[in-house]
Amino acid sequence: MDLYRKKEECCGCGACADICPTRAIRMHRDREGFAYPFVDGSLCVRCGRCESVCPIKHPFEGTYQNQYMGAQAKSEEIRYGSSSGGVFPLLAASILRQGGVVYGAGYNDSMEVTHQEADDQAQLEALKKTKYVQSDTQGVFLQVERRLKEGRWVLFCGTPCQARALWLFLGKEYEKLLLVDLVCYGAPSPGLWSDYVAYLEKKHHGKLMDFSFRDKRARDCGHSYAYMIDGVEYAGSLYQDPFCRMYFANDTLRPSCYHCKFCTSDRSSDVTLGDFWGIEKVRADMEDGMGTSMLILHTDKAKKVWEQVKEDTCWFACEREDLLQPRLRVPTKRAKGRALCMFLYSMLPFSVFLGLGNVVVDLWKLCKKLFR
Ligand SMILES: Cc1cc2nc3c(=O)[nH]c(=O)nc-3n(C[C@H](O)[C@H](O)[C@H](O)COP(=O)(O)OP(=O)(O)OC[C@H]3O[C@@H](n4cnc5c(N)ncnc54)[C@H](O)[C@@H]3O)c2cc1C
Ligand code: SF4
Ligand code: SF4
Ligand code: SF4
Repeated sequence: MDLYRKKEECCGCGACADICPTRAIRMHRDREGFAYPFVDGSLCVRCGRCESVCPIKHPFEGTYQNQYMGAQAKSEEIRYGSSSGGVFPLLAASILRQGGVVYGAGYNDSMEVTHQEADDQAQLEALKKTKYVQSDTQGVFLQVERRLKEGRWVLFCGTPCQARALWLFLGKEYEKLLLVDLVCYGAPSPGLWSDYVAYLEKKHHGKLMDFSFRDKRARDCGHSYAYMIDGVEYAGSLYQDPFCRMYFANDTLRPSCYHCKFCTSDRSSDVTLGDFWGIEKVRADMEDGMGTSMLILHTDKAKKVWEQVKEDTCWFACEREDLLQPRLRVPTKRAKGRALCMFLYSMLPFSVFLGLGNVVVDLWKLCKKLFR
């Protein structure tokens, strides 16, 4: 059984592996470092369940009465600890207060990005902030289903393809599920990230403890990185960090991201969260460099939860056009040099690959200076 013909047709959500009743599907990484499902034909009973949960084969085609808005957590501490306006931690706290659990992306002990459960405020800390790495959701859809069947509230937050996969996986409406998805630029290679972690640890002779892709100490809306190795902190502009630079140059995204079917404001989730790009044009008085969230409330359930949370925010209603950034309309464009970049990554020792990248960037800067 072929679950996809071309790599663009698989976002790596792993829902097919989680649903398979005979455990015939295993996820394996390719040379670019992305996981894809492989079916063991000898175990497959041709039930078709794997195909029925695939978000690429079944994107959302409906529409809801969406409500559009911008918001900032009133607490500066919450906004500082989040990537945008800090709405995710507020929604999550409201679910925890009702005895529920929250699923989001955090680092494990090896600094890989994985979806994890939090059932108290301390565990929630690890799930805050954007990690620009594709997170591993293996096993998580089954866990979410178990929690819902126990009658607990569950908030799941992930990329739109992961949220759609969970929706299809569950196959029915759960009153106590709050499904939150993100506006999504694309997911970079987890294999490349692991190599980068190993590179940083070797360079600084220690263990990487944390990596913030959206540090706000410069009040620059999180356009800085900061990481900690054995108690020593390193920080700088996002565009100086080689991993982030390759991400924003569109060289290292998963092939499906360049064909993403979720770049729209209509989703099957309850809430969509993102950065309020262009806040200075809509509400200049709120632009303070600490981040503003954009929210789309799709369902009545989301509107009810928002009633419990909105007092902790400064918020305003707006029109769809006010928050319509590129990733709500079209997928990120594949860089012309992506194939070469990923080929070199798969062939060269990692430090040589990074060194080559730095030479290319320096040459590019020099050319720009010379021909200005
Ligand atoms: C890969 C990626 C690309 C993004 N691209 C855009 C974009 O182009 N435009 C835009 O407006 N917003 C984008 N976002 C969303 C934005 O960065 C914020 O995550 C979002 O606005 C929520 O911020 P917050 O302040 O409310 O909460 P935060 O505390 O920042 O919460 C972040 C939430 O995102 C989840 N998360 C973090 N990393 C991942 C991951 N790798 N995979 C799945 N879930 C994750 C966390 O678990 C948490 O639930 C992107 C996020 C990711 C992860
Ligand atoms: S068809 Fe059924 S048994 Fe075969 S791989 Fe898919 S889910 Fe597993
Ligand atoms: S369910 Fe997810 S992992 Fe499986 S084929 Fe579809 S997109 Fe790929
Ligand atoms: S860009 Fe699309 S396919 Fe890629 S991770 Fe985001 S939602 Fe999934």
